[in-house]
Amino acid sequence: MTPDKRDRLAGNPIHFIGAGPGDPELITLKGKRLMEEADLIIYAGSLVNPEILKGLKATIYDSSGMDLDNIIETMAAAWQRGKRVARLHTGDPSIYGAIGEQIHRLKKRGIPCRIIPGVTSAFAAAAALQVELTVPEVTQTVIFTRIAGRTPVPDREDMAGLAAHQATMCIFLSVSMMDQLCRELLKGGYPPDTPVAVVEKASWPEEKRITGTIQDIADKIRDANIRKTAMILVGKALAGTGGRESMLYHKHFSHEFRNARSADGNSKIKDPDDT
Ligand code: SAH
Repeated sequence: MTPDKRDRLAGNPIHFIGAGPGDPELITLKGKRLMEEADLIIYAGSLVNPEILKGLKATIYDSSGMDLDNIIETMAAAWQRGKRVARLHTGDPSIYGAIGEQIHRLKKRGIPCRIIPGVTSAFAAAAALQVELTVPEVTQTVIFTRIAGRTPVPDREDMAGLAAHQATMCIFLSVSMMDQLCRELLKGGYPPDTPVAVVEKASWPEEKRITGTIQDIADKIRDANIRKTAMILVGKALAGTGGRESMLYHKHFSHEFRNARSADGNSKIKDPDDT
């Protein structure tokens, strides 16, 4: 390979792009531009909304019928020919995207990669429910996890252990094991009336939202016939703020960008150490 070609190839990384949860407008501007410029796109056909691929000039492959060797070979061959290659993953690529193994293999071949983040389905589900996942004085922690399926989960992350925090949980890939999940959540210490919401196909036109508690959600999901592509959110934060208000916008709370008002309604001079 001539040094000139090597330089050209090095300046043309393979882009892993977060396609977002489904709504074609929930992709970053950068992700969209790179898709428009791409000559070859491999997308995760089981979850990425095909709407997002309309009108593109690229040759498009669906990875659901390909194995890892296939995927890497197809991307590498196009890259060697100087083509622009994009790999499209649902939601954000860093969450259950199996990108680690692809990046590892590409780097071993000297192929540069770049990752463009996306809107994960956890956040699309929270948006659909109009909830804040980190309600002040309720919880300030969000756990992303799943029940073990064909991919095992390390013992130290077992569901009951995580549930013991009673934080907000965003549970992926688990709606087909709802009974087992709820048993584990209770075993971990969430009270039985803890709110649970399940959002199927968040941000798609056919989005479905089911809300309940750890006690009754499994039956509701069965009745609604939800078996896959659903996000499970758990925790007291889903019940809302109950009227509690945070310090951040409190009128007597100063921070870097705003001075507090004193009780008489006038702006106080901010103490720089008081943020
Ligand atoms: N990288 C993706 C997750 C891939 S794993 C992301 O960031 O969202 C696949 C799991 O994600 C599904 O089993 C489901 O739990 C969840 N999921 C993906 N898209 C979804 C959507 N539109 N609505 C609800 N859940 C979704």
